[in-house]
Amino acid sequence: MKTADIMARIEAKYPLEKEYLQAVQEVLESIEEVYNRHPEFERAKIVERMVEPDRIFSFRVTWVDDRGEVRTNTGYRIQFNSAIGPYKGGLRFHKAVTPSMLKFLGFEQTFKNALTTLPMGGAKGGADFDPTGKSDEEIMRFCQAFMLELWNCIGPDQDIPAGDVGVGGREIGYLYGMYKKLARQYNTGVLTGKGATWGGSILRPEATGFGALYFTQHLLHKAGKDIKGCRIALSGFGNVAWGAATKATELGAKVVAVSGPDGVCEIPGGITKEMIDYMLVMRASNRNRVQDMADKFPGEAVFTPGKKAWSVKCDIALPCAFQNELSEDDARELKANGCWCCCEVSNMGCQPGAIHFFQSNGVLFAPGKAVNAGGVATSGLEMTQNAEHISWDASEVDAKLHFIMKSIHEQCVKYGTQPDGSIDYVKGANIAGFMKVATAMLEQGTV
Ligand code: GLU
Repeated sequence: MKTADIMARIEAKYPLEKEYLQAVQEVLESIEEVYNRHPEFERAKIVERMVEPDRIFSFRVTWVDDRGEVRTNTGYRIQFNSAIGPYKGGLRFHKAVTPSMLKFLGFEQTFKNALTTLPMGGAKGGADFDPTGKSDEEIMRFCQAFMLELWNCIGPDQDIPAGDVGVGGREIGYLYGMYKKLARQYNTGVLTGKGATWGGSILRPEATGFGALYFTQHLLHKAGKDIKGCRIALSGFGNVAWGAATKATELGAKVVAVSGPDGVCEIPGGITKEMIDYMLVMRASNRNRVQDMADKFPGEAVFTPGKKAWSVKCDIALPCAFQNELSEDDARELKANGCWCCCEVSNMGCQPGAIHFFQSNGVLFAPGKAVNAGGVATSGLEMTQNAEHISWDASEVDAKLHFIMKSIHEQCVKYGTQPDGSIDYVKGANIAGFMKVATAMLEQGTV
């Protein structure tokens, strides 16, 4: 297998699907050498099969806004790969959602889920619906209309959606309510990220951010460093950034920046508990403005419009918002300002040039599919609790999450250690995830 040949083929077939092509390129480059040591993979055309989703559902979502106007969006569910378990992955509601974006996310999800040690295949879905400025009632009507189409594509042993950008606990509640009405079954295992009183796992809201910090701790420990006292710049103020800020502060680090589409809030004294709580209010308001933080905490948080979190001096950068949010120029600025570690929490948050810059300039770097896997892993734990009709307490979930993140770090080290002793976490994560999925596909024959 030659990465260039496969890429030429899929570029010709999907010339406009930039994010999808970027995600495939990154994985194929990392696995090429290992893949070519396994002629049985090549005989079974594992790579050709793996880069194509199993199936794509696309549907019209029609709903009525608060002014009584009829609105139409496009919804999708991409069932990417079910070699190691039922399809599993989040739903993204964002104005920029396209099949390319969801294909990249579904592809990445397949390897991420394989890393979690749990039996989950890969999927992603969502809609080009923009929650910004929408009322709670509009969000509810949209979620209900979306589920009217989605409900018979999903099921606890078939495909289990969850949240992603623009979809949190509130949206999962509205989606589940409509699912239950249509299916006439109390199938809690059909969605994860549910409320704690109706089948949700304790700690699922925190899990992506907490897991990211546990992974970061392992990475720092391996490099002989400690997180205590480190200055952290993070992007976003949604669920993931909130969990990361909470755990980082608890571990003794100082979160000195949070950002949004409108600019960055610098917090020289470090983020406080009140500010972390306020992130949830900002998310629920649907205003999508980080300036609200500076307005609420004048003197403590200083807003600069149009700037990214990466312009703030820090030791560790944690992209927690959106794909390609950190460019090569940002990477250079971070390094020039003293940053020595970047753990990608968002999916494909760093552009290829940024990753290359970090890796060739001594900045520790780990990719999203390893760092953020605690979210979907805890979804997997939620599925287990639902299947057993029980619920674990916070300490039990946290211990399992800890164990999973430790194991993901170990897999990265196992497959990513280079001849000079350094660890290539991109290679490590990609090869570990790939080997598991490829072996399962091989064993299940040509289907
Ligand atoms: N959207 C999250 C992710 O990117 C969580 C998916 C899930 O819990 O199924 O992994």
